[in-house]
Amino acid sequence: MHYPTFMHVRDILKRDKTIFSFEFFPPNTEKGWNALTNRLSEFEELEPSYVSVTYGAGGTTRTKTRDLVCQIASNTELDPIPHLTCVGHKKDEIHSILQEYADAGIDNLLALRGDIPTHGCSDGDYSYAADLIDAIHGFEGASFGVGIAGFPEGHPETPNRLVQLDHLKSKVDRGVDWMCTQLFFDNNAFFDWCQQCELVGIDTPIIAGIMPITTIAGMRRMAELAGGANFPAPLQQRLYRFQDDPESVRRVGVNWAAQQCAQLLDHGVRGIHFFTMNQSSATEEIYKALGAPSGSKLRGLHE
Ligand SMILES: Cc1cc2nc3c(=O)[nH]c(=O)nc-3n(C[C@H](O)[C@H](O)[C@H](O)COP(=O)(O)OP(=O)(O)OC[C@H]3O[C@@H](n4cnc5c(N)ncnc54)[C@H](O)[C@@H]3O)c2cc1C
Repeated sequence: MHYPTFMHVRDILKRDKTIFSFEFFPPNTEKGWNALTNRLSEFEELEPSYVSVTYGAGGTTRTKTRDLVCQIASNTELDPIPHLTCVGHKKDEIHSILQEYADAGIDNLLALRGDIPTHGCSDGDYSYAADLIDAIHGFEGASFGVGIAGFPEGHPETPNRLVQLDHLKSKVDRGVDWMCTQLFFDNNAFFDWCQQCELVGIDTPIIAGIMPITTIAGMRRMAELAGGANFPAPLQQRLYRFQDDPESVRRVGVNWAAQQCAQLLDHGVRGIHFFTMNQSSATEEIYKALGAPSGSKLRGLHE
């Protein structure tokens, strides 16, 4: 299989004044898989700086993540970045995953710990994402660019926010190229946290994670998955006002995300990462709300 050559995110950051990236998850069913692969051309038209593919903590989507990454790499113009979590993995497993990505010509990885399973501690070789970053840098088969996760509204496991910044700094000091944040709905929390990062000497480019709410049930799931995320009162008020009308709920959620993006861009954010849930329509609507002509890329507009 021949794969094209990709770029390190550190070079993409030099090319694109503002990064626009999309996140996909590997579907569980053949139907979901076909739907996503048929939709990839719609995402391609928006010319994101890169796309990323999630990984099930503990290796639950190991082959599916790799298959989707390789499919995107070989069949589209998109530049795919795999997520990789280390929780529950042995060193030789991580090594063989890294080798697979090196063989596929992949240039970057989003290095994560993953959530600890609810039934207790896993018996893997890694405790934190920082250990995975070391393993990636120590891998001799390729020189991967490394991204990490950041949590503007805090990570539930470390209530002490100053200690959390220390842990983040220690990840950054191991050598990372970019940081992508957890989803948030309150830009002020993001701006304040970026300033806090600066204060502790973190100058890694920060890409803001944005996920439009499209249903009330979806919002409840997000609150579960992104523990600590704040849903501001005006957002909830606008959503509940129309809670019996799914179209209106969706419109409110997408408008809120579009306004967040506009303000982030006004403040010179380094990038926006859309958690797409494998659907292109909400992202397209946000692009349009920002003023982009239909099917147009945004990343070039700021150069
Ligand atoms: C953009 C993004 C993408 C994601 N993609 C995925 C995915 O594909 N698959 C998936 O399963 N999950 C994913 N997650 C979720 C993520 O794996 C979990 O939130 C996980 O609990 C934290 O991961 P981390 O990489 O930030 O871990 P870490 O940086 O290891 O931090 C985890 C916790 O440990 C604390 N900590 C760090 N170092 C130390 C230390 N030395 N001593 C004590 N405490 C410490 C931190 O403060 C934090 O509370 C994603 C999250 C984001 C924001």
